[in-house]
Amino acid sequence: MKPNLIAARKPEEAATTHPTILRTVLEYLLDKGVQPFVGDSPAFSNFKRVVKVTRVEEVCEELKVPLTPLDDPIEVNGEIFRKIKISRKVLEADKVVNLPKFKTHSQMVMTLGVKNTFGCVTGLEKSSWHMRAKNYDDFANLLIDIHRIVSPILTVLDGIEGMEGNGPTNGRKKNFGIIAVSRNAFALDDAICSFLGIDHLVYTVKNARRRMVTPEYEVFGSFSSTIQLPSTVSTFERFSRAFSRFFVKYPSIDKRRCIKCRLCEERCPASAIDISKQEIDYQKCIRCYVCHEVCPQNAIKLVRKLI
Ligand code: SF4
Ligand code: SF4
Repeated sequence: MKPNLIAARKPEEAATTHPTILRTVLEYLLDKGVQPFVGDSPAFSNFKRVVKVTRVEEVCEELKVPLTPLDDPIEVNGEIFRKIKISRKVLEADKVVNLPKFKTHSQMVMTLGVKNTFGCVTGLEKSSWHMRAKNYDDFANLLIDIHRIVSPILTVLDGIEGMEGNGPTNGRKKNFGIIAVSRNAFALDDAICSFLGIDHLVYTVKNARRRMVTPEYEVFGSFSSTIQLPSTVSTFERFSRAFSRFFVKYPSIDKRRCIKCRLCEERCPASAIDISKQEIDYQKCIRCYVCHEVCPQNAIKLVRKLI
């Protein structure tokens, strides 16, 4: 079981898969005689703390389901990218069940089923891929490669409460009121983004279509909602990509909010942050927004700069 355990956030913050969703799917599998285990490789916090705060530990203890960090990497090759370090525990599991959260994402626009399997890449290796696949389409293709390697048999999207705005950790909670289920996350993501009218903006959806990995699918039920996209998706981008590249958002440190925990400095793949001076070197910054994602104080603001 691969929930979204991105950080040590309480279920009420809607940044992680809700423990009730996890419990429900686990109970179903246990009832069918399956021997599941739950794992993730949180990008920004200690695994023990993450499973405690997200209340995933509580569910696993109660149901006597093993809980494990996704470590112990094996190097595998994707269709486009080579030498991707994925946890042996994922590769050796009989089947993978994917439990993503419905959220916006400052870099990829949305994080749904396909992006969730990026958590099967071990530890800090995740940050280093931002340097190896700097371009957003390249990064989306990396996510597609990883998802195809992990190849979950089922995806259950937790969208009862999700996140809009500058997700995946510092956006605003929103009640979308949906649980979406599919055997194929490419189809699921495509359907959700099409319902929202943003399929042309979401990098994983666009590139999955381009690579023809999204199957023909049929939708049972319907979904209707508005969503506020990340501020990194400019109004111009929605209409003209050519024009939009002149108006991009860069991270900026809000010095009053910053507590100098140095998490952003440690995780910045481009070594562009100097927290002792609370400065960002924009010559080095690749606009991956990892700093914004990891900041526990929401002290990284995304500000427009004309380049
Ligand atoms: S992660 Fe946030 S609070 Fe911590 S040093 Fe960076 S900006 Fe400051
Ligand atoms: S400063 Fe932030 S957005 Fe820029 S490269 Fe570092 S982590 Fe990415």
